[in-house]
Amino acid sequence: MSTYAWIGLGNMGGPMTANLVNAGHTVRGYDLNPQACTAAAETGVQISDSIAHAMAGADAVFTMLPKGEHVRAVYEAQDGVWANATAQMLLLDSSTVDIESSRTLHDEATARGLSFVDAPVSGGISGAADATLAFMLGGAPELMERAQELISPMSGKIIVAGGPTSGIAAKICNNMMLFIDLMASAEGSQLADKLGLDPKVFWEIASVSSGRSWAQQTWYPVPDVIATAAANNNFEATFRVDLARKDVGLALDAGVMTGLDLPAAALASEHFDRLIDEGLGDKDCSLIVKNLVPDGKV
Ligand code: NAD
Repeated sequence: MSTYAWIGLGNMGGPMTANLVNAGHTVRGYDLNPQACTAAAETGVQISDSIAHAMAGADAVFTMLPKGEHVRAVYEAQDGVWANATAQMLLLDSSTVDIESSRTLHDEATARGLSFVDAPVSGGISGAADATLAFMLGGAPELMERAQELISPMSGKIIVAGGPTSGIAAKICNNMMLFIDLMASAEGSQLADKLGLDPKVFWEIASVSSGRSWAQQTWYPVPDVIATAAANNNFEATFRVDLARKDVGLALDAGVMTGLDLPAAALASEHFDRLIDEGLGDKDCSLIVKNLVPDGKV
């Protein structure tokens, strides 16, 4: 059995740590939000009042935080991850961050003689709850076996993408595809409605046809079609609009960095910006469907 330090107990970190506890491991969690801490404590996570306490004697240190700036801050804080890490610990960042932040963390770990792996995930909160997340790993080959052992209680599939930052590069490309697929589901669902189709029947047809996608299967943005959809719950977030905008922005930045034009991703970012401008950044990203309805009522 292993001891995990876990920083960031939100929508993803909460259920991921619950699965580690269920598998018999010790998890010491840290989060700035008291509600997230209370919810995690109910699943058996031991709540720490400092990063130092969470990390003392840990085998693995996971971060599951909103953005690269949060992860870097947690690592670089005076009493943060760098200050408390030892050569025995494996440091893993599962947040979706920019490539530059991930590269900085890899370089700093190497300079300090520490072991770091970028280990972002795909599968949403349902994948986190069911322990079926796909993990994509980037880092030194000699770290991968240990990383996979530590990750396996939370995962359905672990794929080594390559060297440092390869995991996050794969994640950025994947999520760009996801949000373009979400736009397709939003537009398809609304056109089907205008053409008089029963929403559930159309969803069933798309599910066995070429309109199928993960977004269509899991986030279909119409109420009373599939149980996992935020559309059934007033679009309360399973994946927040502002985080979706962040992810598409990471892809657009990578496009600029590599000289690639990404017009569909640019359109998705405009949709998310509209929602953020309306003060809806903390709602679920499937609320993108609102932009298609003339009166904005969904
Ligand atoms: P979230 O906002 O629900 O959770 C993030 C948690 O980090 C919050 O509880 C917040 O209080 C905490 N936090 C922020 N700054 C902190 C700090 N300095 N110290 C300690 N805690 C801090 O976000 P989430 O949905 O769990 O997503 C986390 C990451 O995983 C993001 O990068 C996101 O893009 C990625 N991701 C999310 C999903 C999803 O479906 N929600 C899926 C795959 C990947």
